[in-house]
Amino acid sequence: MTLLSEILSYNEDFVSQKKYEDFSTTKFPDKRLVILTCMDTRLVELLHKATNTKNGDVKIVKNAGAIVSHPFGSIMKSLLIAVYELQADEILVIGHHDCGMSAIESASMLEKIKQRGIDEKTLETIKYSGINLDEWFQGFDHVEESVEHSVKMIKQHPLLSNDIPVHGLVIDPETGKLDLVVDGYKN
Ligand SMILES: [Zn+2]
Repeated sequence: MTLLSEILSYNEDFVSQKKYEDFSTTKFPDKRLVILTCMDTRLVELLHKATNTKNGDVKIVKNAGAIVSHPFGSIMKSLLIAVYELQADEILVIGHHDCGMSAIESASMLEKIKQRGIDEKTLETIKYSGINLDEWFQGFDHVEESVEHSVKMIKQHPLLSNDIPVHGLVIDPETGKLDLVVDGYKN
């Protein structure tokens, strides 16, 4: 059985047994909050347990590292949609210790890409199109600095209303402990 067929078969039971009923809610966040966090596997449930949020409470945006790397990329767009269309009044950026993005070296990432059959010529073509892959793949050194940077990118965005607090936190992926990096009420 493939992973996909396993998921689909489980899903049939889930729906037929009406297990979805426990999760019934609306698309608007009851806590009027949007969280940007990392895609890390350890946070899938832990983040919600540790922040006392559940289905229906928050909008969640995830990527590798909880990083806002471009002011007009999909992450920023999602945050703006959460604020203007979906009633989120506060933004929380939650990075975490031991993040995969803190260990990413672009050179080693590009080496792995080559080993999987992407040829040098393709990388050269991308380079000559003006895309700096070294910069694009580079991770961060300190999670606190990365969270501060993401908070700043969001807070200073020309399309974000001034009255939206943007907070920055770091979570421990083992214990769920949160450390405050930026108190958005004070900025
Ligand atoms: Zn991470």
